[in-house]
Amino acid sequence: MTVKDAIKEVGQAVIKDKVFLTDLDQAIGDGDHGINMARGFESVLPKIAALADDNDVAAALKAVGMGLISSVGGAAGPLYGTAFLRAAGACKGKTAIDAATAKAMLDAAIKGIQDRGKAQQGEKTMLDALIPASDAFADGIKAGKNAVECLGDAVQAAEKGVEYTKKISATKGRASYLGERSIGHQDPGATSSTIMLTALYKYLKQ
Ligand code: ADP
Ligand code: MG
Ligand code: MG
Repeated sequence: MTVKDAIKEVGQAVIKDKVFLTDLDQAIGDGDHGINMARGFESVLPKIAALADDNDVAAALKAVGMGLISSVGGAAGPLYGTAFLRAAGACKGKTAIDAATAKAMLDAAIKGIQDRGKAQQGEKTMLDALIPASDAFADGIKAGKNAVECLGDAVQAAEKGVEYTKKISATKGRASYLGERSIGHQDPGATSSTIMLTALYKYLKQ
C-alpha cells in the first residue's frame, strides 16, 4: 500500500464517473462537476506518479491539493484543493496513517471546506457526505476499530449522506438558485466525495 497508488485509485474512480457526476450536476447545477473533477485528476495523476517513492503522505496530498486548485474551475476545485492541502497539514512527516491521524486529516479537510465555502451540514453540499463520514469514523475509533474499518463505516455514512441530500434543498452553491426545485436530486459534490472515500476504502482493505 502506498500513498501514490491510493491517490491513483481515487483519481481513476473520479475520472471513471465523470459522466455520472456531470449528469447529476446537469439536473441542479451547470453540468460540469464530472468534467471539472476529471480534468483535475487528469492533471494531478501524472504529477503524483512522478513523486519520490518515499510514501510521504503529506507531500503527495499537497501535490493533489495544489493541482486541483490550479486545474479545476468552479466551486469544487478550490474546495477540494483546500481539503487536500489541509489534510496534508494534518499528517506532516508521516509515512503511515493510523486511525487517529486519519480522523484528524478528515476533520482538517472538512474545516478547510467550511473556511472556504462557509457551508454547514444540511445545505446540500459535499459536507453532507463528509461530516457524517467523519462522525462515523469517530464512532469507529471509540469502538476500537482500526483505520480501515473506520473508513468502511465512514463510507456507509457518506452513502447515507448522499441519500439525505435528495431530501433537502440547496442553500449553497449553484444548486441554491433552484431552491426547493433542487429537492429530489442528489448533490454532485456529496457524490464525488463518496466516490473518493469508497475508492480509498476499496484500495486499503484489499
Ligand atoms: P460549480 O458549481 O461552480 O459548477 P462544481 O459543479 O464542480 O462547481 O461543484 C458543485 C459542487 O460543489 C456541489 O454539488 C456542492 O457539493 C459543492 N459546493 C458548492 N458550493 C459549496 C460550498 N459553499 N461549500 C461546500 N460545497 C460546495
Ligand atoms: Mg457545476
Ligand atoms: Mg461550473
